[in-house]
Amino acid sequence: MLRLITCQTATLLLEQRPEGGLSRGTRASLWLHLRYCQACHRYEKQTALIAEWARAAARNQANMPTGGLSEQAKERMRQRLVEAE
Ligand SMILES: [Zn+2]
Repeated sequence: MLRLITCQTATLLLEQRPEGGLSRGTRASLWLHLRYCQACHRYEKQTALIAEWARAAARNQANMPTGGLSEQAKERMRQRLVEAE
């Protein structure tokens, strides 16, 4: 059943989603919320990007220079965040 959810609930669900375990009804409610709420829609894109970077960072950790991300990589991230909006 579709329920209207608040932005607070939506962001909470977005954070839980990677672990799975959301019921079909909850996913549908979240999907509906993302249809009409620009703020949460943007938040979803950003969390997806951040999760992607976290995975990439974990993969690259072994051959990452000790200084962490290069300025170039940081600039690319900023660029993609801007584009996601
Ligand atoms: Zn919202």
